[in-house]
Amino acid sequence: MSGKVYLIGAGPGDPGLLTLRGKEILEKADVVVYDRLVSLAILGMCNPKAKMVDVGKMPQHHKVKQSEINKLLVQFACEMPSATIARLKGGDPFVFGRGGEEALELVNAGVEFEIVPGITSAISVPAYAGIPVSHRGIATSFHIITGHERDVIAAPVSGVIPAQAGISLDFKALAHCSGTLIFLMGIANMDFIAQRLMECGKDPKTPVAFIEKGTTPYQRTVMATLATAGKTIVREKVTAPAITIMGGVVELGKSLAWKKNLPLSGKRLVVTRAAKQASGITARLTALGAEVIETPMIETRTLECPCVIPAVILEGRRPDRITGISSSVFDSLADFDVLAFTSVNGVESFFKQLFAAGYDVRILAGKKIASVGKITEKKLLEYGIRCDYVPEDHTGEGLGKLLATLVPQSTEGATSNPIPQILLLQGNLADDTMTKLLPQATRWVVYETLPVSELPEWKREAVESADAVVFASSSAVENFVKVMPQSVEGSDSYPEPRASNLNPRTSFCIGRLTEATARKHGFETVTSDETTMDSLVKKIVEYYS
Ligand code: SAH
Repeated sequence: MSGKVYLIGAGPGDPGLLTLRGKEILEKADVVVYDRLVSLAILGMCNPKAKMVDVGKMPQHHKVKQSEINKLLVQFACEMPSATIARLKGGDPFVFGRGGEEALELVNAGVEFEIVPGITSAISVPAYAGIPVSHRGIATSFHIITGHERDVIAAPVSGVIPAQAGISLDFKALAHCSGTLIFLMGIANMDFIAQRLMECGKDPKTPVAFIEKGTTPYQRTVMATLATAGKTIVREKVTAPAITIMGGVVELGKSLAWKKNLPLSGKRLVVTRAAKQASGITARLTALGAEVIETPMIETRTLECPCVIPAVILEGRRPDRITGISSSVFDSLADFDVLAFTSVNGVESFFKQLFAAGYDVRILAGKKIASVGKITEKKLLEYGIRCDYVPEDHTGEGLGKLLATLVPQSTEGATSNPIPQILLLQGNLADDTMTKLLPQATRWVVYETLPVSELPEWKREAVESADAVVFASSSAVENFVKVMPQSVEGSDSYPEPRASNLNPRTSFCIGRLTEATARKHGFETVTSDETTMDSLVKKIVEYYS
């Protein structure tokens, strides 16, 4: 039994245009062999354990030859029995995607395969520029044509095709066809193509549009006519990938162009939060036009049960790994009056453990609940729990100080007012800010945070090409500089990794502590006024406006 190969169309760029079937396969793929035009967000959807093979560009910046790709697919299928091998291609695999060649190779090798069509750029990119490829009364057909150099140059100038050159363009037929002409891969040859079409009788006034990087945050439309096509490409520096569309329908784009230039259009931002927490900010930045590369710096793991750490034992040390946990710990919840949560992870982990141990929220009846900030407060509300205490400044220090006011300062007169027992629910890397302010408090470690130790190559390259990086914690900064500099030449000579060695250098930080750490590592910093995502997003928009 060999592995099965799926030839999947990734669509034109906007990750929302990937099909459900495509996504389903990418999420479970063991190998993903992908092309240059596939968007980073789609690569980010692939099974994180998948082997990622970039055949669009190899280390020496050479494209892998088609024959080698064909062989590679067969090889993976034969070497990995029952594996899912995704061959991910831009647009649709059968529209100038050489998917047919790959499928033939698989048939010859007896490898099972499936075709997952994609949305072709030929139609969707014009649609994103407000140009319908057909329109009643204007165009009753549309033609998708390769403008690839080899095919075009091989075509005779006369427009008459000799039998043996059947693959080349028939300019005469194209010039006389009244439908919309859509050229893919044609930018480099467009001057030549336009000249040939006019020589063969096509009206020089035919409207033409070039749509560059369509459906992505970098989309641009440039209008011309057949007569001015070549010059316009040079003047406007139109670059690949771009679609050229010719015909009366192009005029409709002037009224129907619907894709707005957004505040963050054309910006590539790295979000370093853990995937689950990142989705909120990613969605917001994407809606504002940015291309977001999610690069979590930490992986959090809920412990099986809380690990009890009396504050005195800690003495400023952080337990790196947790051992010796026991589920009977929940029996002692009765001893506490106040439960303090310092993160969303803390909330989620605590309830996961609680439910797994067979309890439910009734165990919290009568207890006071404290949260470090609004996001944690909102998470608690999802479990039906309202907070009694939230500090003004949304920091551990603020929460520590607030809770300290509940504890009587001296024992005199305290007999009628028993000292409230405080339980801190934290991760293993929480610092001792709160335990110092609340020396009597007990700490339960409910989750572990493990730093991500390396980034896949495709992601590192993507990060390096970004405009800025978003940090929501000091540890994210620390880890970012650790995982990134490997790709920076000469970084070995620096005793500590510093942002001055790498790209991007601009950082958006949530909170002053994060800002200080980012500065320490050489980042330029822009910091939110409040420690909320809303405030940070506002700051990012302000920065780029
Ligand atoms: N199979 C692909 C086409 C591959 S040929 C599909 O169905 O879309 C590559 C050409 O597609 C590029 O040279 C360009 O002309 C076009 N193309 C692909 N993505 C594009 C995009 N986002 N914007 C503009 N043109 C694009």
